[in-house]
Amino acid sequence: MRYFTDPMGWFSEWRRKRVLARHRIDDALWRSATGNLAFISRLSAGESEKLKRLVILFLSEKQFSGAHDIDVTDAMRVSIAAQACLPILELGLDWYAGWTGIVIYPGDFRVKRSEVDEAGVLHEWDDELAGEAMPGGPVVLSWDAAAHDPRINVVLHEFAHKLDMLNGEPNGMPPLHAGMDRRAWAAAFKEALQGFCDALERGRDTWLDPYAAEHPSEFFAVISEAFFEEPGETKRRYPDVYEQLKLFYRQDPASRRSG
Ligand SMILES: [Zn+2]
Repeated sequence: MRYFTDPMGWFSEWRRKRVLARHRIDDALWRSATGNLAFISRLSAGESEKLKRLVILFLSEKQFSGAHDIDVTDAMRVSIAAQACLPILELGLDWYAGWTGIVIYPGDFRVKRSEVDEAGVLHEWDDELAGEAMPGGPVVLSWDAAAHDPRINVVLHEFAHKLDMLNGEPNGMPPLHAGMDRRAWAAAFKEALQGFCDALERGRDTWLDPYAAEHPSEFFAVISEAFFEEPGETKRRYPDVYEQLKLFYRQDPASRRSG
């Protein structure tokens, strides 16, 4: 349709208003899907209502599919949508524009990797993953990891990667808002990652998942999980990074009750 040259403009707004007017999330379903997620229970009544509206739009615009015959239930969809929408609570759903698929595997899944080394030799191997965010494509999640692994939050993690991918190759710096200082962001993250790698090398307890040391983009994804799940501790250990994340996500989770 050649007249709709701006699909995220008025037409999309009109469509979203209609979706919100016609749908609501059943209270019992919301409780069963999010009741075990402390970082969602801590939201104020206003934030919680805002999150529910985002979840309704997210469910209407994204497409869930199950791999290996897993039955993707409403509770699973709402749980994943609620966690995925928390980071964009103050940013809006357009931050997840440009792709639609969310693929759920029952457990960890294998992906084929290949790389040509400097000598021109092709190396191929299998990776076993709990989640993956494809640039311009779907988010793939292991339900077992999403529901049962207390060490990671694979949903917050992969959706943080999606935000990081908005301005090209994931590098730990998503598109910053006007008024934010790129140098302050870079300095805070560089110092935090260096300290983290140092502690890891010395065999010290790193608090954050050691996987964060893999790449600046992984550090951003892992500390974004912590920012929402354990904001008080994140603020205490990484005050400068916390401040930058607060400016980026436009949220201050440490100020939420018992946060
Ligand atoms: Zn990652």
